[in-house]
Amino acid sequence: MHALSSTYARIRELKCEWVPVSDMSDAIRKRSGRADVIDGEAVAEQVRAEVADAVEQLEAAGVTPGLATVLMSDDPASETYVRMKQRDCAEVGIESRHVEIDTDAPQAELFDRIDELNAEDAIDGILIQRPLTESVDEPAALRRVDPEKDVDGFHPENVGRLVTGDPRFVPCTPLGIQRLLLEADVEIPGSDVVIVGRSELVGKPLANLLLLRGKGGDATVTVCHSKTDDLASHIGRADVVVVAAGVPELVTDEMLTPGTVVIDVGINAVGEGDDRELIGDVAYEAAAETVDAITPVPGGVGPMTRAMLLRNTVVSAARKADIELDFD
Ligand code: NDP
Repeated sequence: MHALSSTYARIRELKCEWVPVSDMSDAIRKRSGRADVIDGEAVAEQVRAEVADAVEQLEAAGVTPGLATVLMSDDPASETYVRMKQRDCAEVGIESRHVEIDTDAPQAELFDRIDELNAEDAIDGILIQRPLTESVDEPAALRRVDPEKDVDGFHPENVGRLVTGDPRFVPCTPLGIQRLLLEADVEIPGSDVVIVGRSELVGKPLANLLLLRGKGGDATVTVCHSKTDDLASHIGRADVVVVAAGVPELVTDEMLTPGTVVIDVGINAVGEGDDRELIGDVAYEAAAETVDAITPVPGGVGPMTRAMLLRNTVVSAARKADIELDFD
């Protein structure tokens, strides 16, 4: 059921007992007794190549796509994320602009800078790096972004469009998850998808995305959360389980059944010093002995989130310039 897009080297890196992709088959999976690994790095690379190609199409029409990142926070992790996004832009030919605002500046300064970016023709996408410093009304800041440049898909207008079946910008993590499922040949229409987590960032937009009619949609979606009664019973009957709870190894192999596809969104730093590592919301090693396919952490959803931001940016540039991209 799942055609993997990973390379032999990558599979070895992930410590799976696999043979080259060219030899991939159900028989091999049975022999190894392990799940297929859905390789987010490989799919993200593919998305970046598509974006680079789209940038060339735009350049040929005299358009250079531009993404602005806005940081108003002292959080070192946020600073790193912004730097990574700038690097991603450079790699595919998107111009990036960084706006940094002192955390003790008044909120009005942030809003003024957003207004300037909204008005600037060279900017096609605006990303407000969250969390913003505490003194700022974050929802108000997200509402300030021109919905036509809201490549993160957080503006209420874009949220509403997704919910009403007329999406413009869809948040990058759900978009990346959908693409991973499609690349892994998961038959989404009609499948029973259980999402653990109901955040505005992941759970809710993913549910709405998978409910849309057509390719990549038409799923039967259940959204679970911390008040859900008997989480295991929901997970146990699912064809696809997406876990975005931010709880290390919340989902264990006892909850999962063979044949399930697992997408682990969680990123949890555990341990100290040299023992510090990133783990997901799924107990990976045991789960990989049970299910049909699984995303690793790191190397699963994370790279897809970054790649989809680039994709949303070129789509925005093309839309603004009324250029039809040879995309998809
Ligand atoms: P939030 O904290 O906003 O939401 C977590 C959700 O999980 C909530 O709906 C919460 O329920 C639910 N939840 C928490 N504990 C349980 C539990 N024991 N059982 C069932 N549901 C539970 O997190 P985010 O959605 O922002 O992020 C989730 C995880 O995904 C984090 O680890 C984050 O780092 C990661 N992430 C990764 C991304 C990537 O690109 N790989 C992108 C975005 C996030 P309730 O609503 O009732 O509180």
